[in-house]
This record gives sequence, C-alpha cells and structure tokens, in this order.
Amino acid sequence: MNHRSSRALAAIFSGPGRPFEIREFPIPSPGPGEVLVGTTCCTICGSDTHTWHGRRQEPTPCVLGHEIVGRILAFGPESPRRDLRGDPLVEGDRITWTLAASCGTCFFCRRGLPQKCESLFKYGHSALSPGREFSGGFAGCCLLRAGTGIVRVPDAIEDALAAPANCAVATVAGTLRTAGAVEGATVAVIGAGFLGLTACAMARHLGAAEVIACDLDATREADTAAFGATRFAGPGELATIARDLTGGRGADLALEFSGSSQGVAAAIGVLRTGGHAVIAGTVAPVDPVALDPHDLVRRMLRIEGLHNYIPQDLVAAIDFLAAVHDRLPFGRLLGEHFPLAEIDTAFASSKPGRRTVIEL
Ligand SMILES: [Zn+2]
Ligand SMILES: [Zn+2]
Repeated sequence: MNHRSSRALAAIFSGPGRPFEIREFPIPSPGPGEVLVGTTCCTICGSDTHTWHGRRQEPTPCVLGHEIVGRILAFGPESPRRDLRGDPLVEGDRITWTLAASCGTCFFCRRGLPQKCESLFKYGHSALSPGREFSGGFAGCCLLRAGTGIVRVPDAIEDALAAPANCAVATVAGTLRTAGAVEGATVAVIGAGFLGLTACAMARHLGAAEVIACDLDATREADTAAFGATRFAGPGELATIARDLTGGRGADLALEFSGSSQGVAAAIGVLRTGGHAVIAGTVAPVDPVALDPHDLVRRMLRIEGLHNYIPQDLVAAIDFLAAVHDRLPFGRLLGEHFPLAEIDTAFASSKPGRRTVIEL
C-alpha cells in the first residue's frame, strides 16, 4: 500500500457463490487505543474457505481474513507503544496481532479467557460499517482495535509464514500451554493438517520424547516425519502403537486437531491412566462422542477443550517459528501467492492443510 495515498483497496465478501468486489475506501485515522497498519500479507485460513463455501455464516458484506501481517502506519492517542513482549513499537515496525481484541475487564477476561470476552471483536468477521471498513486482512490496511495484542515479527520470518502464526500456530501453542510440560512425554497428535504438523514440531521442540502423528491419509506420513513425528499411525493403529512405545501404559498427552468425533474418541482412547487430552479441532458441530464415566474415573482422565488462544500464545508461536523456521519445511504448507485482484482465483484454488497467500 502507498503510505501517502488517502484511500486503500478492500476485497468485499457479500456471500457464498458471489465474486469478491474490490472497492476503495478512505483510510481512517486511528482513534483512541487504535493502531493503523498497512497490510502486506494475509493467508487464507480454513475458516475463511468455510465462509466462502457457505459452511459457516458471517455477517455480510465484510472483509474476510484474520491471518495478517503488516507494518505500522500510525498510532492513535493512548495506543500501545509496546508489543506483548514489552518491546517498543514504532511506525514502520513489521507486526502481527491476535485474531481478536478483548476488553480486559469483563467476567471472562478477568478469568483468563480473553478469547471469550463479552465484547470480543474478531478480525475478518464483522460487517462493514462506514469508517470501519478495514476490519479484515484482505485489504490494503487494517485498523487495530484497542485490546489487540501486537507482536513484532523478527525479520527472518517471511510474511507468508508469519501470517498463519496468529491463528494456526498460536492455537497449537495454546494446546501445549494447556497441556503443561511435555518433556520426555509420549504425545499423540490427531489430524496431520497445518495445525497437526505444527503440533508435532512444537511438541518435539518442547522436549517430547515420542510424537505419534495420526491421520486417515497415509500419504501425510512423510510430512509428519519431516515435522518431527517419531511414528505415524492410521486410526486403527494409534492405541497399539502408543502402548508399544510406553510399556503398555498409553500416551501421556493427546492433541486433537482433526475435528471429527472419531478423532476425539481416539484422543481419549490412546491416553494412559492420568493422561490428558486437549481437544482443539472441533470448530463445527459433529456427532456426540460416547463417554464411559467408569473409564473416566478409573483412568483418572483429563479431557479439556481449547478454542483459539490467549495473547501469550501468539508470542510463543512467533518465538517457536523464529527458532525452527529454517529447519522445518514450512514451505510445503504454503500454497500459491496471489495479488488482491485475484482473490477469487486464490479462494478457488486453496487446498485443505495449505495456506494460500494474498500479497497486498
Ligand atoms: Zn485462521
Ligand atoms: Zn472482556
């Protein structure tokens, strides 16, 4: 985006099956607590494609896209001059930010659940309103609301990789924060898409001794190995492999990203006595899973859901990428790059488990 121009482009989504409309709007001045960012890159997340296909409802017309990277153009009055690490922020800094802004004072914010804030604002999920058009990633700029957690992105992490950090990688960081220490642990990762592969790598980075990746699609085995999984299991083999690796006990931890009922059942089934399952993949309704209370009690299981993440998880995600990006084949997870003008083609060609990149 040209910093000196007073208008910028946005791709307007007005419903499934309709082409995006590229329109120009005046660039707003940031208000109190706000930061104006010139967007440089936004990746197409699975939830964007669900909305585009009509499998998920969003208020329309809107600007989609929440996996965003950009450079700070201007600060509003009393806006944050430090990022989530406490590092100073200045105009021109390359940043990413939490996919939602939360108030910090409501019932849920005060209980450590800012992602459930009673006045949550999510980027790429709100209807256009005059002066508030730049609320998503598929646009030349983005107006960050008060209550958004900002993280400066190290130069070594390219835009296309930094963008999904604020959704997929931060969510994975949230599952591992929820799980606690994994050093020496046997971890089952169910679903080997973008999140699952990232989870294999992050669990190993944090010291897991064994990571068993489980997916229906056996062709993903090579990718899971490249991302640090020590074993690969089809759904029917997971429990047996976990027991073989642990003297018959089962996995210490299961991380569920497939989103399916069968995946959740497998996550519970693979655990050892006292094991912990973190369920993060089920973001759309599925069939219920049978739970045997006797088994739950006798095996003393912990089964925990996680939706999105808290701001510190985004810091952990960026730190993780900074530490491992040159050792892991993240390039395999990134799809083609498109300019904003070709956003229809970009959506039509985006594939599950890959991130198609829109460059602004
Ligand atoms: Zn996303
Ligand atoms: Zn709140």
